[in-house]
Amino acid sequence: MATKCHGRLFYTNMNILLSDLVPLHAWSPKGNPSLLISGPCSAESRKQVLQSAYHLSQIKELDYLRAGVWKPRTRPNSFEGHGQPALEWLQEAMEETGLKTAIEVANGEHVESALKAGISLLWVGARTTVNPFSVQEISDALTGVDIPVLVKNPISPDLNLWLGALERIHSAGIRKLGAVHRGFTSYDAHPYRNAPRWEIALQLKGMIPHLPVICDPSHIAGKRHLLKDVAQRALDLAFDGLMIESHPNPEVAWSDAEQQIRQEDLGEFLGALNHRENRSEEQVFLDRLHQLRLLMDSLDEDMLNLLERRLRVTEEIGRYKQEHNVTIFQLERWNEILSSRTRRAKELGLDPTFIHKFWMALHQEGIQVQARVMERGEEETAKVSG
Ligand code: PEP
Ligand code: MN
Repeated sequence: MATKCHGRLFYTNMNILLSDLVPLHAWSPKGNPSLLISGPCSAESRKQVLQSAYHLSQIKELDYLRAGVWKPRTRPNSFEGHGQPALEWLQEAMEETGLKTAIEVANGEHVESALKAGISLLWVGARTTVNPFSVQEISDALTGVDIPVLVKNPISPDLNLWLGALERIHSAGIRKLGAVHRGFTSYDAHPYRNAPRWEIALQLKGMIPHLPVICDPSHIAGKRHLLKDVAQRALDLAFDGLMIESHPNPEVAWSDAEQQIRQEDLGEFLGALNHRENRSEEQVFLDRLHQLRLLMDSLDEDMLNLLERRLRVTEEIGRYKQEHNVTIFQLERWNEILSSRTRRAKELGLDPTFIHKFWMALHQEGIQVQARVMERGEEETAKVSG
């Protein structure tokens, strides 16, 4: 349903808003439902771009050669991209190999130069997606242009910012639209450069089922040796493709040297990934899946019943504490619960971090339940004594 407001269309239903997208297989160069983009983080020299184009033209699954032309660097005095000359190297690469090209744009001028150079696909980078002014400027420059555009997730885990950027690009008339999960900045200790938040990307996909969502395992992993696991996870979760940074000689790359893989190794890397079917119609498979899902439904029912019973006991404890004028929270007891539950979780082969988070949520709910009980108890005592 669309409602009009101040002359602009505001949509209340996301599915309707983006339901006019062109499906990926109808615009991906090979007609594949899965997209593969690869190439160096940055276009460093004419030679490096042409070498990359040569190596990657040998990869039959490749759809687009990527190369950064303007690089958003965290700190100044780093290499910020060659700009216009790099566009000319990419043009030459397209002419030489017939490959299609993909670059990042961060403002209206970038869009205009990229379009003039005949670049085949544009993407909005993670640092740009966070800024609605920049995304709007890009959208304005794209108005009336028919080109595929991908929007990377913003660096902070904010689904609405990501959605907003997609909506702005869509409002320019872009119908070959996609999203890229490249992980999120996190201060928590993490093996990855940008922590993947698969659930956020899957939520986006759930909201806009027509939207292709691909994964950039390179910027998630940050290190070559972690790349394969992240790429495999994306395929297991039915992502619609991969963007992988590759370089003729990664050790000497001018940016993101630690995460790029050798272009000569890309074919082997892709061959080692397990491409699963999104679904299988085989009857035996369907029957077993149905069985397992029924089992899961019944376990969930058990879990909900147990939770309800546990919270009733919590309530009882709250009442008892109120009657005996004891505080709700007792640090020692809480520490004991947390350590014994995570210890037991480890014995059971469960992830202690998950169990820790789970019990924190349970504890918070328990405190609220007890606080309500105490409040009610105090009111009743006041009534009786009043
Ligand atoms: C890139 O693709 O090289 C890049 C800068 O990515 P991101 O916007 O994900 O940081
Ligand atoms: Mn990079």
